[in-house]
Amino acid sequence: MTEHTKTDGLPELDNSLIPQALDRSRPRNERMQTDKVECNACPVLCQISAGRSGACDRYANQDGVLIRIDPVVLLRRTLDTAKPMLVPFASTETNPDWNGDLLRADEIFVTGVGSSTTYPDYKPAPFIVSSQVQGVDMVTVVTEGIFSYCSFKVKIDTDRYLGPEQANVRCKGEVVGHVTTAEYGSQMLSLGGVHHLTGGSKKEGRITVEMMEALGNKQPVEFTIDGGSQVLIQAGKAPIVNGVQEQRMRVGCGSAAVGIFAKQLYGLADEVVVVDDHITGVLTEHQAGRCLDMPRSGIQMRGRKSTPGRYFQVAGPGTGWGGTDIADPLSIIESWDADIAKPGMRLLMTSTTGEHACWYVLNDKLEPVEQAMPANVRAVVERIGENCEPSLASVMFLAGAGGSLRAGVTENPIRLTRAIKQALVNVTCGGAPAYVWPGGGITVMADVMRMPDKSFGTVPTPAIIAPIEFSMRMADYERLGGHMDYVRDLAHVLKSGAWHNDGAPQARVWHAVGEGNAWPLAQMPMLG
Ligand code: SF4
Repeated sequence: MTEHTKTDGLPELDNSLIPQALDRSRPRNERMQTDKVECNACPVLCQISAGRSGACDRYANQDGVLIRIDPVVLLRRTLDTAKPMLVPFASTETNPDWNGDLLRADEIFVTGVGSSTTYPDYKPAPFIVSSQVQGVDMVTVVTEGIFSYCSFKVKIDTDRYLGPEQANVRCKGEVVGHVTTAEYGSQMLSLGGVHHLTGGSKKEGRITVEMMEALGNKQPVEFTIDGGSQVLIQAGKAPIVNGVQEQRMRVGCGSAAVGIFAKQLYGLADEVVVVDDHITGVLTEHQAGRCLDMPRSGIQMRGRKSTPGRYFQVAGPGTGWGGTDIADPLSIIESWDADIAKPGMRLLMTSTTGEHACWYVLNDKLEPVEQAMPANVRAVVERIGENCEPSLASVMFLAGAGGSLRAGVTENPIRLTRAIKQALVNVTCGGAPAYVWPGGGITVMADVMRMPDKSFGTVPTPAIIAPIEFSMRMADYERLGGHMDYVRDLAHVLKSGAWHNDGAPQARVWHAVGEGNAWPLAQMPMLG
């Protein structure tokens, strides 16, 4: 048995739920044992024994019938923010609470989550659903795409140094991504992608795809960064850097913090230094101090002066003050100009989050001596902290849908690409709004926190399975060469499941609006 035909034990199926039966009519491979069924939903072509699931754990052999194990996730338009309901499809027998109102098509949106995959791509997508919105005939093409070209861009709100730009990011020892350009208040990672999925060893590909599935499904994943930190990332949660949970995202860079709080510190201190790995601010030199007519303090800073009151590279990067490697803030002061500085001068040093702050007074030798911070100064430092947002890890799914997946939508793929660029088609991922990048292809980006739970799966090719939906006017669908023979209304879809089924799928209803998303079919620009 090769890796691709290994099967795991069939997870216990809830008999009260109606499985989605797939491709019963497919001819059995002659060499296949009689109790096996072949899954043709991806190139692996698993031969699955009775009572077992395929290599991806998405399909199983139940009594000789290939079934899709997970429910199809529907979005239900509601303002109810309660937990998502589990609703067996079109069945009041198994769910007495279900009021059978599935025909209210304007409140139901079929997502790609659990919709099944059609392979090869020239087959029409499993669900091509017609509906009416504001009196306009619409269609939504729904599928679980197989993505080899996909990655996650991760934004980690922290000042702390995670590692040098371009450094390898590892998961379970394998390289799965790299550190990319830092953004304002955040460190950025690029994880997964075709290079790690297909260009390295088999182990690298396997660990990459497992990492991507977990990260997309909002699970915690631990990474180590070469020459940097260990970081635990979970979408929508505070990152944990070297075992310490991050609390605050900086209010701004050192220069910005000086500008924001200059007036509030005026008269309370003779000098203020906001320590920052990138741009350290020095109030009396800074334009903010000049505007307030503050006299220079005579402080001489280490690092490279950029413009008045703005210093680069005052220390190395690290997990200390303001994302630097320092524990003692005085180490970034070179000296004091004896012609300007005077004993008794008051100095505030703070980090960009206010988590670190010290108060000093110059002695007769012009040496800063730490003293208890006055209450009015402490109040400003606390306000710096108050202005920091909670630190979060944000995970964006980025995928290329401009390849063969388009053939499941239309016989003339370039027309789909053009229609998307012309804003005739709304692209969603599990109902979450997807940003479509400009330029060629269909490169989409979606926030995993706005997608239903367990939106992502894997196949051992290796590749990521992710939901994608294309919504447009029926007339436009026809014009772009859509598979018109496969268009079915919601009632039909809900009764019979994917077009290649002979049974209705189970379904799970997700409260879309309660999850913070706009209603997918209300995002159509052509509907005004
Ligand atoms: S890996 Fe999954 S989708 Fe692919 S053939 Fe096997 S069971 Fe089907």
